Amino acid sequence: MPKAVIAKICLCVTLFIGLALVLYHWFGFFVLLFWMILGVAILDVIWPSFSMFGFQIPHRSRTGRSQIALTFDDGPHPEFTPKILDILKANQARATFFVLGYRAEKYPEIVERMQTEGHEVGCHGYHHKRWILKSPRLIAQELYRWLAAVSIRRQSGDFIWLRTSHGQKNPWLPWIAKKNGFKLCAWTKGVWDSDNPGENVIVQRALSGLSKGSILLLHDADGDCENESRMQTVLALPEIIRSIQANQMDCVTLSNLFNDIGDVQ
Ligand SMILES: [Zn+2]
Repeated sequence: MPKAVIAKICLCVTLFIGLALVLYHWFGFFVLLFWMILGVAILDVIWPSFSMFGFQIPHRSRTGRSQIALTFDDGPHPEFTPKILDILKANQARATFFVLGYRAEKYPEIVERMQTEGHEVGCHGYHHKRWILKSPRLIAQELYRWLAAVSIRRQSGDFIWLRTSHGQKNPWLPWIAKKNGFKLCAWTKGVWDSDNPGENVIVQRALSGLSKGSILLLHDADGDCENESRMQTVLALPEIIRSIQANQMDCVTLSNLFNDIGDVQ
């Protein structure tokens, strides 16, 4: 079930419980308040593009330009990432790679190639671990460790894009990220190519409902398993790019999608 649906169900249930208590006794008002705060906190944690305190977490550009941001999580992978880079190069497409620190340490030449060929490198954490319960200190440590592991040329001024594993966050993550020079970014179109549903299904999922300013989430590796194949994503990618370009849209990096038009402060 999609996270957004789960989030809405949670919110409705908490509101129903709270309202029932209010009708039962005046003390129910405080119970309702508690449940509402809890409901919003749950939304913030499980909904990657939801921002509880108004910190800007861009997930869709407001641009009218015909641009799509391709993003790849969990790499670099020694077999599949170079294949993806070859396809991007052959089709004059750009992308943003959210790399894992421990993998970037093993394959620095792939990270270098990404940047040399005009792609953007973002942070997906040092390990592919859960971020929900990380304290501010642990989050900062994770970011420092990633910075030490990844040789990155900053392309977007003074910040690096950050996407946590599974898009998970907690109420203090946006502050810690901003303080350390990172900016959270979600996605608008999760393709779930990591399920390996077949290249035709991946193409179909990627293209259905795609519109200007969309951010497509794909994977060039598996976050937890080195041996998991991403060949289906590799096989699907040329058709995805060709269809986007046939609709007069360009595949660009996140910074091209947002920075050029001042969407990110
Ligand atoms: Zn991931």
